[in-house]
Amino acid sequence: MFDCVVVGSGFSGAVLAERIANARRKRVLMVEKRPHLGGNCADERHSTGILVHKYGPHIFHTDNKRAFDYVSRFTEWIPYQHKVLAYVDGNTIPLPFNLNSLEMLFPRDLARRIELKLLARFSYGTRVSVQDLLREDDEDLRMLANYVFEKIFKNYTLKQWDLPPDQLSGEVMARVPIVVGKDNRYFQDRYQGVPAEGYSAVFGRMLNNPRIHILLNTDARSILNFDLESGKTFVFGQEFRGLVFYTGALDDLFDRVYGPLQYRSLDLRFETLEVAHFQEVATVNYPNDYSFTRITEFKHIHPFETNRTVILKEYPKARETEADVPYYPVLSVQEVDKHRKYIELTKRFPNLVPLGRLAEFKYYDMDDAIERALTVFEEVLM
Ligand SMILES: Cc1cc2nc3c(=O)[nH]c(=O)nc-3n(C[C@H](O)[C@H](O)[C@H](O)COP(=O)(O)OP(=O)(O)OC[C@H]3O[C@@H](n4cnc5c(N)ncnc54)[C@H](O)[C@@H]3O)c2cc1C
Repeated sequence: MFDCVVVGSGFSGAVLAERIANARRKRVLMVEKRPHLGGNCADERHSTGILVHKYGPHIFHTDNKRAFDYVSRFTEWIPYQHKVLAYVDGNTIPLPFNLNSLEMLFPRDLARRIELKLLARFSYGTRVSVQDLLREDDEDLRMLANYVFEKIFKNYTLKQWDLPPDQLSGEVMARVPIVVGKDNRYFQDRYQGVPAEGYSAVFGRMLNNPRIHILLNTDARSILNFDLESGKTFVFGQEFRGLVFYTGALDDLFDRVYGPLQYRSLDLRFETLEVAHFQEVATVNYPNDYSFTRITEFKHIHPFETNRTVILKEYPKARETEADVPYYPVLSVQEVDKHRKYIELTKRFPNLVPLGRLAEFKYYDMDDAIERALTVFEEVLM
């Protein structure tokens, strides 16, 4: 009945299904356990009329022209440059921490002195990691690095990961730079925006093809079986020799034989407020206060005329049950090692291709997931 099976309808699975059906004209069975397409990028119209992102704010930003051009085949864009503030010691300062943040938090003379030192040491616009700045000889620069680490990074990391920063990989640390400049945008990529009619509309268009058969509300494990002893794959109880692209978590697929893989989950609480606007920009981070990490107000991302507004508070938590959505892989040495063992298991099945943020246990942004899926398609099917 089908040439390939794709598990998961986020960008990783959707790009593959779209390419297999359109470029190779083959039949795809897409299996998605949620009641909708799009994975964590899914959005929907709230009863106020405002478009909200169901699983936290998603801003498309990339320097990768191939990924941008690919998505642009399915949507027009609303140009949008993301701005994030952090609530620190009673002030809201621009994030990533930059020269404007420095001027807002430090006494004027001290801020000026540090600014001159930063500009003498790095060219304007450089993004320096906190770790690199901590290795500088200059006492003021090390003091600044310590300040940013303590006030912006440390407690946010503890809330987000429930781990002290030194137990996380450099990949996580590197996401917190200090910017030697005054550009208050959160991303500096060449292409930035959000799909004009939202992400869910993009997925609908990508997968609208009679060669793609979609099963929603279906956990792949109910129809798909990987037999570890024989190395055979079964779909609906019959041996299946076609390719299976799997974008879910690998511990789920193999009954947690090496124990559960740690992903952080989120308790997402939406609130409707009877005010036109709640905050100045789309996202405000709360590194030190409250138990949520950030508040997003969607009107800033998708402007909509109404006297009401919708905000989202994100409360990080462990993924304890299957009902907790796995959002962020915990990139500790131990978990990365455990994931490697699961990857070894997948190699017993020559037709199984794990990919995407969950299966590869990688901190992929949307453009990374798209690029990876396009590359896998070329490698495996061209
Ligand atoms: C809170 C948050 C904010 C983010 N913000 C941004 C941003 O601003 N910009 C950006 O570029 N990226 C952002 N990302 C990253 C972005 O969400 C990912 O890059 C993208 O979702 C990766 O797509 P994916 O298909 O690999 O994974 P997912 O979107 O997680 O899709 C995997 C799909 O597989 C399904 N699935 C899993 N197991 C099974 C199973 N057993 N059976 C059937 N279906 C299954 C899941 O239900 C899900 O739909 C953010 C991520 C999070 C968590």
